[in-house]
Amino acid sequence: MKYLIINSGSSSIKYQVIEMTTETVLATGLVERIGEAAGRLKNIAFPGSDRELTTVIEQPIADHANGMMLVIAALTDGEKGVISDTSEITAVGHRVVHGGEQFLHSTLITPEVINVLEKNIPLAPLHNPANLDGIRVAREMFPNVPQVAVFDTAFHQTMPRRAYLYAVPHELYERYRVRKYGFHGTSHRFVAGECARFLGKPLVACNLITVHLGNGCSMTAIENGCSVDTSLGMTPLEGLVMGTRSGDVDPALHLFLKQNVGMELEEIDNLLNKESGLKGLCGMNDMRDIHAAAAGGDERAKLALEVQTYRNRKYIGAYMAVLGRVDAIVFTAGIGENDAVVRAESLKGLDMFGIRLDPEKNSEHSRQARCISHTDSTVRIFVIPTNEELAIAREIADLTAK
Ligand code: ADP
Repeated sequence: MKYLIINSGSSSIKYQVIEMTTETVLATGLVERIGEAAGRLKNIAFPGSDRELTTVIEQPIADHANGMMLVIAALTDGEKGVISDTSEITAVGHRVVHGGEQFLHSTLITPEVINVLEKNIPLAPLHNPANLDGIRVAREMFPNVPQVAVFDTAFHQTMPRRAYLYAVPHELYERYRVRKYGFHGTSHRFVAGECARFLGKPLVACNLITVHLGNGCSMTAIENGCSVDTSLGMTPLEGLVMGTRSGDVDPALHLFLKQNVGMELEEIDNLLNKESGLKGLCGMNDMRDIHAAAAGGDERAKLALEVQTYRNRKYIGAYMAVLGRVDAIVFTAGIGENDAVVRAESLKGLDMFGIRLDPEKNSEHSRQARCISHTDSTVRIFVIPTNEELAIAREIADLTAK
């Protein structure tokens, strides 16, 4: 049982091959700069526990079909390939950003599913066409195996309408499906499931706040195992302060920038998605650089940390109010898993909610899932590494077993 997991972006394909009986990653890689003058593929294999860079190909890569052919070449490479030919792949899983309101669960890909994804393009104009490219190419190259779509939005489809509706004229929802969808659902659900195991009870009995802090950041309130509110919105721009995305701003900012700075709508969209967040506040979006600069006295880097962690705190408070009883808060993704300072600052002053970190446990470095709360804390606090590819692989296993 070897699954190929694909995350197809507009100019990239990220992939993993997972051996499912043991949940072992056999190979992982990235094709980037598709459609540009200088394309590249990097393939890493895991013979035993070590990682080994087996293949680097640098050449123009015209399109996704061309990129996928290079992936197959790297995976079947005589000496270092992890499969002997494509027939060893028994299923293909695709990360799909936007499933709209139609997909509450992962689904086997059929022509009808592709049709619905095409209809959803207006909701995710940058992501869904790229995801569809990956799906079409993989269906051609692996025609005889099940292909599964796993949606970033699906986990959040349990939100009640009071959480997902914006207070705008209701016709906009009825005609254009304007509403909060939420993203990072695969990650939130994965760490929630892992956390339930730690807590020793079924996920359906758990109330959790999951905090995904990577380049993209989001927080989810989970009641009885279901998402009931989440910080990302109709698009992945709302909510927390991210690497380059602003998160919450006054929606009237668009008009102000147009009237006073002379910016066009598209420029404002670009500003809020690519030039804002941590980068907008201090010029850097890699958290490690920001800490190094802050330690050297850079006031703007300190400001960026302060604004981001304050926003995290505010959302945790809001989700405590949404849930009432919370069993655990879970930190995950690049910053959430590695950054003890951001975790501590994001939880500062929340003792009255029964939230108390153990400073020593918090500052230990580890790649393992772990509990970092004080023994007195009524809300337990965990760091749980996310693994979206494994989550997708488990979805495939569930769906194909039916
Ligand atoms: P993506 O959303 O692209 O998947 P990741 O989950 O990989 O992002 O997270 C990327 C972020 O994690 C970057 O801001 C990076 O600086 C941060 N990060 C990675 N390692 C560390 C670390 N050891 N300490 C602090 N931040 C880290």
